[in-house]
Amino acid sequence: MPRILFQRNKCIGCNACVEAAPNRWRVSMRDGRCNLVGGIEKKGIFQTDIHMVELDENLQAAANCPMRIIQVDEGR
Ligand code: SF4
Repeated sequence: MPRILFQRNKCIGCNACVEAAPNRWRVSMRDGRCNLVGGIEKKGIFQTDIHMVELDENLQAAANCPMRIIQVDEGR
């Protein structure tokens, strides 16, 4: 199963990941950084498993991110 790892503290809230994968990424109204939907924080890195159907759009989200703080482990 693929997995996303996200270094939230470096997010600049640019919305590029949301445009690629709107079901998984939301910019927070509170602090302007993105939230990884379903993400659990471990030592500052938010992580969640995703379904294969979400893989391509989240690879695109990672490619779009100007801060390079989204990592997608394809789990193959
Ligand atoms: S693309 Fe990167 S920097 Fe921009 S909102 Fe998403 S995670 Fe944050």
